[in-house]
Amino acid sequence: MAFRSPIGSEVERNNMPVNIWPGSWVDANAWTGNNPPKYMLGPGNPAFHTGADLNLPGDKDRLAQIYSIGDGVVRFAQLVSKTSWGNLVVINHGTVNGKPLFSRYGHVEDIVVQKGQAVKVGDPIAKVGNQFGVFPYHLHFDISVTNQLDKAPTYWPGLDLQGTKHHFVNPRNWLRENFNSAAEKLPDGAFASGGVSGGADEGRKPGDVKPLPVWYVIDPNGAQVYKNPSLTAEKSTILPRGTKVTVDVQNGRKDAELIWGPIVGGEYNGQWVAIRRNDGKASYLSTNPPQ
Ligand SMILES: [Zn+2]
Repeated sequence: MAFRSPIGSEVERNNMPVNIWPGSWVDANAWTGNNPPKYMLGPGNPAFHTGADLNLPGDKDRLAQIYSIGDGVVRFAQLVSKTSWGNLVVINHGTVNGKPLFSRYGHVEDIVVQKGQAVKVGDPIAKVGNQFGVFPYHLHFDISVTNQLDKAPTYWPGLDLQGTKHHFVNPRNWLRENFNSAAEKLPDGAFASGGVSGGADEGRKPGDVKPLPVWYVIDPNGAQVYKNPSLTAEKSTILPRGTKVTVDVQNGRKDAELIWGPIVGGEYNGQWVAIRRNDGKASYLSTNPPQ
């Protein structure tokens, strides 16, 4: 659990420098909430800036990989329009420091996440774009500490300085201060938190972009977790009734009696639970919480 820069190599992101933006990355238009010179979004289109415009010299940032700054759930991931935002990704990181936290990545290309998908810090989400040639290649990146981007993922305060200051923070300072912060509460559908963290690709395969459903233990006796998909395998723990768990059903197993699924994320990542009996006569997990 941590927050990291959205750009840079893995080493750079995990050893975040004091100036936050790694290597040769520069912020062409710093956040303007405290000291608000307007910048020109385009000719005749001045605005206050909600975040950072991250660039490498020249077009070296073209299609550079962009990573989720923290654990969370994708709130928005689609084309807005070719003249406004281009492709946009917004991630809900739950509650951090007592406030909502959303990160936003604008003008991107090659989005590899979908709305509702759980992501971990450092997961690739998209690549640096240029909004179909409207701008030089750069990542517009901002951090919001209200629910505004949940209500309106494309929200742009423009010349509304109060809106800029109310909804957004200086992303460089925020990342610097929250390098080792954890969310008090992750959004619904996030990977189970706590336990051993295996890093960005914990329990995931490259290119695995399908959202994984969240399941609930509905068996009154709880769900026994096994090291392997077999009743004779080593047991590890019992998840009590009502426990929320992400299970990769697509990579499940079926034996003579049971359908098994591997747990994704959290302390029991990679271990197995029985989802239901083969004959359908009993279910132990459900995508609906127990009543
Ligand atoms: Zn920008």
